[in-house]
Amino acid sequence: MLKLDSEVQYIKGVGPKRGELLRSRGIRTVEDLLLHLPRAYQDRARFVPLNALKVGQETAIQAKVYRSRVLETRTRGRILDVILTDGTSFVHAKWFHGGYLQQNKVFSAGRRLVMFGRVEFDHYESTFVFFNPEFEVIEETDDPSSLDIGRVVPIYEELAGITSRQFRRIVSTALAQLGSNIEDPLPEEVRESCGLPDLKTSLQRIHFPETSDDLTRLNHRDSPYHHRFIFEEFFLLELIFALRRHQARTVKGVRFHTDDRVRDQVKRILPFHPTNAQKRVLKEIVEDLKAEYPMNRLLQGDVGSGKTIVAFESIVIAVENGYQAALMAPTEILAEQHFINARRILGGLNYNIGVMRSGIRKGEKQATVEKIASGELHLVIGTHALIEEHTQFRKLGLVIVDEQHRFGVLQRLQLMAKGENPNTLVMTATPIPRTLAMTLYGDLDLSVIDEMPPGRTPIRTVHYTERETERVLSMIRKEIEEGRQCYIVYPLIEESEKIDLKSATEGFTKLAEIFANRRLALLHGRLKSEEKEAIMAAFAAGEIDILVSTTVIEVGVDVANATVMLIEHAERFGIAQLHQLRGRVGRGAHQSLCILMTGHAVSEVGRQRIKAMVSTTDGFKLAEVDLQIRGPGEVAGTRQSGLPEFRNANLLTDAYLLNLAQKEAELWATRDEERERLIQRLSTRGGGVNPAGLVTVG
Ligand code: ADP
Ligand code: MG
Repeated sequence: MLKLDSEVQYIKGVGPKRGELLRSRGIRTVEDLLLHLPRAYQDRARFVPLNALKVGQETAIQAKVYRSRVLETRTRGRILDVILTDGTSFVHAKWFHGGYLQQNKVFSAGRRLVMFGRVEFDHYESTFVFFNPEFEVIEETDDPSSLDIGRVVPIYEELAGITSRQFRRIVSTALAQLGSNIEDPLPEEVRESCGLPDLKTSLQRIHFPETSDDLTRLNHRDSPYHHRFIFEEFFLLELIFALRRHQARTVKGVRFHTDDRVRDQVKRILPFHPTNAQKRVLKEIVEDLKAEYPMNRLLQGDVGSGKTIVAFESIVIAVENGYQAALMAPTEILAEQHFINARRILGGLNYNIGVMRSGIRKGEKQATVEKIASGELHLVIGTHALIEEHTQFRKLGLVIVDEQHRFGVLQRLQLMAKGENPNTLVMTATPIPRTLAMTLYGDLDLSVIDEMPPGRTPIRTVHYTERETERVLSMIRKEIEEGRQCYIVYPLIEESEKIDLKSATEGFTKLAEIFANRRLALLHGRLKSEEKEAIMAAFAAGEIDILVSTTVIEVGVDVANATVMLIEHAERFGIAQLHQLRGRVGRGAHQSLCILMTGHAVSEVGRQRIKAMVSTTDGFKLAEVDLQIRGPGEVAGTRQSGLPEFRNANLLTDAYLLNLAQKEAELWATRDEERERLIQRLSTRGGGVNPAGLVTVG
């Protein structure tokens, strides 16, 4: 008896040879085969008679070959021209460079064909024509089954040399052989509450829809049957996440206390009243810190929403509890910025704060490593140098990873391994679309700062082309005359022969002439750390009017008096980067301006990005646009992110089902055994989400 997990070769008509072929393409079991879903559906229920065709119509026709010939052309090679008739009229089908189609004698006179394509008018021949249509031969000797005509017919991607038509037969046979021997891994309870059809119905109808099924929705992967399979993939993923979150709660971690003394210390560092969002988020963090389990939390918030102070509040709690804290940043500049901030914000508390950079001298590094090991340093800030093997903490209780999107999951775990289940707070600089956060960080609890500190005036964003340089310069001049400061950002450091970009250096020279009586500085990645630091400090102190820079200032820099950000060749930057850069202004009470300069030739995608930037400053909205433009893999930076590969699900179009799956998985959070069994059953399906990979990462 055939079962879903039987090998494909046991389907009648497949046999060992084809079975081997299919296996080589990842189709091992009957279920794998059935999850090879049709790529499209054609309505062959009623064929349009040839004398009723209309130009522009997408349709299937059924007709016999009347005659075929090869036309030699100078521009389009050999065109295969087939004339077909159904008795009512004639139609042409033409394939450019289609000489090869002659070889297998498909188009010999009298052959019955089904053809699918768009009806065009051929001015040359004055007839209707299909250009490069899809076609299928209907054999007269075949039993007149209704698999290929007289119904909505599934079209499959040709695989391992098996044609769409052959696939249709194999799938049909498999379904017939299975009968009702199809066990649904999705519990009825779940199906019912989510309104999803059962597995047997779904498999039957996704391959062989009935007349009542909506063809358009089928073709858009939007039928109830498609939903079911997409849901299943998301549900499995979310169940695994729910399980991991649950298991994480059973681990004994470092536990902090927050008595009056600790609370007073936290209050001492606050230079302002926290926003309600900051208060709420801190409360969520404190709940975790006080609990037995280690914290595993993702802190999301738009650029400038005030994540830094929340991080430092957590650090104070850790240190006051006698533990060390580590703060890891993705770049040297950002680590330095945090270090400066830390000394300023924590100044009153007499903490020993160290910084670990990859660039520092050996002796200095060694000294820092020793102080980390002895526990002398309360807080260590650094780049990935922090996770290098020789750093050993005496008592690491809190790990904060800033700008998570630049680190892989692995690096986060490496730093965590330096302590015994330390509390971990992951911060993102740029908002991540919700769907992506749910698939990438579903194992973390989520806190969101969804409110900006008070007293901000929204940044005005404008777009100019190079032709309007004069106008832009006068805008900058005006701001500087009023005592404000300005950033001018260039995408590249040195003139490259191939890419015609103004370099920061060249730009700096020009600007120095234009603004001869102003104080300018040039900041770029090749400068020594001390030089960068000195320039940043001077800019922060108001001793520099115009800071010309490469993207090294992208993150973290915070100068409230800087009100203009000019980005040269803005079309070369991604949305997240532009948003980060823009976030450097608008940090004080003055109205700020972001000027996006582009050349004349901007790609369509570049134009979309600029348009989005001009229309909103909401980082979460921009993140969604970015996701639409680039797709989940690019946005997540697939290689290191561990974004699961879905078989049918799509984060862009199926967000609704992802939400549904997450809610449903949440309901199973307390049903330990059942949930594990469910994960077992769902994950025995081939392909799709890779739960094994997910499990090993954690
Ligand atoms: P980000 O979330 O991008 O890291 P920061 O933590 O750097 O944002 O905060 C941006 C700016 O807002 C800083 O100058 C910070 O001092 C200020 N800030 C943060 N929270 C508040 C608040 N509640 N009230 C006033 N200013 C605040
Ligand atoms: Mg920050």
